[in-house]
Amino acid sequence: MRVEVDSRRCCGYRLCVEAAPDVFRINAMGKAVVALEPIPAERHDAVRTAARECPGAAIKLIGDEGPAR
Ligand code: SF4
Repeated sequence: MRVEVDSRRCCGYRLCVEAAPDVFRINAMGKAVVALEPIPAERHDAVRTAARECPGAAIKLIGDEGPAR
């Protein structure tokens, strides 16, 4: 899985950083950026939570095939 943040939609509320602090950080512009790529499998659920909770719908998951069954 890869993840992208659309900085135009990010409003800097940091919910993604709270959900996955090793994956997201806030840059000097107050926008979230991805700090870890590719995303390790054990962090996929945390990234999905971040994407779901993002108030700006700014987090895009690429190549996410959903939770392992
Ligand atoms: S949760 Fe969404 S809006 Fe908030 S900082 Fe992260 S990417 Fe930006």
